[in-house]
Amino acid sequence: NTASNDAKNLRVKLVLLGDSGVGKSCIVLRFVRGQFDPTSKVTIGASFLSQTIALLDSTTVKFEIWDTAGQERYAALAPLYYRGAAVAVIVYDITSQESFHKAQYWVKELQKHGGPDMIMALVGNKADLHERREVSAESGMDYAERNGMFFIETSAKTADNINQLFEEIGKLLPRPAP
Ligand code: GDP
Ligand code: MG
Repeated sequence: NTASNDAKNLRVKLVLLGDSGVGKSCIVLRFVRGQFDPTSKVTIGASFLSQTIALLDSTTVKFEIWDTAGQERYAALAPLYYRGAAVAVIVYDITSQESFHKAQYWVKELQKHGGPDMIMALVGNKADLHERREVSAESGMDYAERNGMFFIETSAKTADNINQLFEEIGKLLPRPAP
């Protein structure tokens, strides 16, 4: 019936955070448009895109995605985007230890100032550049586990694990009472 169908159509605000250059905008572009543009522009402030997916249990999830700029000068704006977000996706670049440290800074910031029920995912992007890897998958996984986060490595370039990232988040979302 219609009521149970409505309960199966979820809408969720998702914010992407992480150092500039880790591939946040490319992840969103890959997920929403199925494209990878190596000449993509630096994000100014933040940008908004949405995409709906269907899960195997026939739930649909509409992701309202806020893709933030990683630069320090925009850091003060971050709370505008993560406040009220049900999901935070914190991205680092597996070829940059520095970006992994920055990701940990974001995790702490969200633990202090984010909503108590926020779902957090840690994403190690640029997994295609394994020959330049500086952050082991174990380090990412261990950190995520210790902080109650979902963890995945992705490549926006090859599309590896991009849809899986959003599907797994969709599965973690609380379902409204019938
Ligand atoms: P943002 O600042 O976090 O939004 O990063 P961008 O999405 O703008 O990407 C920064 C740079 O990394 C661009 O030159 C992209 O082409 C590149 N990039 C993004 N994702 C990947 C990836 O998965 N693999 C590789 N090899 N390069 C990527
Ligand atoms: Mg960007």
